Amino acid sequence: MSEKYDVIVIGSGPAGYVAAIRAAQLGLKTACIEKWRNEEGKGVNGGTCLNVGCIPSKALLDSSYKYHEAKDDFKIHGITTKGIEIDVPSMIARKAQIVKQLTGGIAALFKANGVTGLYGTGKLLAGRKVEFTDNEGKTSVLEADNVILASGSSPINIPVAPVDNKVIVNSTGALEFDSVPKRLGVIGAGVIGLELGSVWNRLGSQVVVLEALDSFLAMMDQQIAKEAQKILTKQGLDIRTSCRVTGSEVKGNEVVVTFTDKDGKEQKETFDKLIVCVGRRPYTEGLLAADSGVNLDERGFIYVNDLCSTNAPGVWAVGDVVRGPMLAHKGSEEGVMVAERIAGQKTVMNYDIIPNVIYTHPEVAAVGKTEEQVKAAGEPYNVGTFPFAASGRAMAANETQGLVKIIAHAETDRILGCHIVGPSAADLVQQVAIAMEFGSSAEDIGMMVFGHPTLSEAIHEAALAVHGHAIHIANKKKR
Ligand code: FAD
Ligand code: AMP
Repeated sequence: MSEKYDVIVIGSGPAGYVAAIRAAQLGLKTACIEKWRNEEGKGVNGGTCLNVGCIPSKALLDSSYKYHEAKDDFKIHGITTKGIEIDVPSMIARKAQIVKQLTGGIAALFKANGVTGLYGTGKLLAGRKVEFTDNEGKTSVLEADNVILASGSSPINIPVAPVDNKVIVNSTGALEFDSVPKRLGVIGAGVIGLELGSVWNRLGSQVVVLEALDSFLAMMDQQIAKEAQKILTKQGLDIRTSCRVTGSEVKGNEVVVTFTDKDGKEQKETFDKLIVCVGRRPYTEGLLAADSGVNLDERGFIYVNDLCSTNAPGVWAVGDVVRGPMLAHKGSEEGVMVAERIAGQKTVMNYDIIPNVIYTHPEVAAVGKTEEQVKAAGEPYNVGTFPFAASGRAMAANETQGLVKIIAHAETDRILGCHIVGPSAADLVQQVAIAMEFGSSAEDIGMMVFGHPTLSEAIHEAALAVHGHAIHIANKKKR
């Protein structure tokens, strides 16, 4: 007889491991299957996020920013530094240690919560059965009342720049350089391209970012995107929009990249390394038997409804492998929702309030609708902005670039969106996200007491500015 579980989760990224832990907390007999192996060939949990995504990229962003600060920023505080150097292998080793600690932590959390962690590959068969092939190649069939598919995503490859993991790399390879490339090309000015470009730019690479679209960060609020572009350009990122890469040729240790520029003219640039960051696609390779009964949509995502239920009874899917933003926290919350639904609870998820961050310095963060989206929907609205240049705390920290923007409905005053480029934007935007979850108006935030001096005061002031009541800037609108 095959082993029977209440829940089998396939994939232990932030969507899968969170679903498994929550299911086990609710008393469900749960197993989580993971096929990722580390460099030593050992099975590890954590998926893209912990192994080659959110965490290692932030480790390198933080290391590279400290180097930049020590080298270029300390002097304004009266601190003299000499002989500042970057030891790239040590920086990469620190990152690897953090990854090891966190991925190991998931195994410990599984143990603490009673989740059975299985290392190997899972394949969904018909009738909620899962074929499990362990890392030694031994196959067995497991059964479950519910199966949660959380197989994640993988980088998109483009034929015009095939990854060779030597000169042309994807985001994973860009976390492993053993020295600072002199000239670095990045294809795609998305979140990942800007973060990885920033890491190596801070360490001394001349970085050129080639982006096919005409506008920079097209999906973001354009006032914020323009400000971010200005700041990043000043830092040395050579961001070229309307530039579509059409070919590449590796010559020894270099790559010659061909692209069409904004006038449609063919151009060439030579780089020591090229990072391909043109997006990610859902990963379902080997996941579904032909008769699993699970449908994919036209873009290859597993088709699910609002509750993450697939069209096969008892089969759910969460995270990057289903529609919606490819963000770790989005997948985690879907994992919680599904586990609680399986346990009989009525949990739903609010897809309208999912914060989104680019971890450049300063950070770019957003929640809710952009001004362009509000305008396109024909909703009447007011906008309040507050620049960090007017914040005492930002000035004390020498972090005065950027602004907070709050958009509120003109009739109900309900906050529709908040967009920030500035210091600690990721943490600041979460404050507004919490307020939005409680249906807050701009006036509500304006009436709250904010600690002084804090960066959070910029949120207070932007909320006040929605009605022309900001104290520390001249208001555009007076009431
Ligand atoms: P994944 O994390 O991709 O995990 C899926 C897991 O399923 C993998 O471990 C895979 O091995 C396993 N699997 C697949 N098929 C099978 C199978 N058949 N059997 C067994 N196991 C299987 N998001 C953020 O929110 N914030 C960030 O700062 C951020 N930074 C990023 C930086 C980079 C460089 C990258 C690449 C991504 C970043 N992301 C970030 C995105 C984030 O990593 C993903 O949204 C998140 O990892 C998706 O979680 P997931 O659980 O759906 O899938
Ligand atoms: P994201 O999906 O946010 O990771 O961003 C990927 C970016 O890569 C998008 O903005 C695309 O427009 C861009 N992109 C895709 N293909 C090309 C290409 N051939 N040349 C330049 N940019 C590209």
